[in-house]
Amino acid sequence: MDDCIFCKILKKEIPSEIVYEDDDLIAFNDISPKAKTHILIVPRKHIDTIKDLKEDEADEELVGKMVLAARNIAKEKNLDGYQLLFNVGRSAGQIIFHIHLHLISNG
Ligand code: 5GP
Ligand code: ZN
Repeated sequence: MDDCIFCKILKKEIPSEIVYEDDDLIAFNDISPKAKTHILIVPRKHIDTIKDLKEDEADEELVGKMVLAARNIAKEKNLDGYQLLFNVGRSAGQIIFHIHLHLISNG
């Protein structure tokens, strides 16, 4: 998606503080952190919202990988407790329409 900020971050056209990346996803620090740790886990595949996920193996696997990546990053950073959050739709506060999982923690 040409006008998508997260696609531009994925293509490294916009800089970000990357904390993890692999063939399927990238994780970087939120530009406006809501807690001591605030990381966004973003799939390389552009999908507007959680509502647009397909009921197929590829999307099931992708969402599973996002959650496991968040868990692994939290483990590596020795975070005890954390929140994993998807904002879904404008009315729920979604600003960037490229799915992303927020990993938020103060410890
Ligand atoms: P949403 O409200 O869509 O679930 O969350 C979007 C998040 O992306 C927000 O927490 C916002 O601070 C973050 N964000 C927006 N633009 C940028 C950017 O250019 N770089 C980074 N690192 N984060 C961004
Ligand atoms: Zn995108």
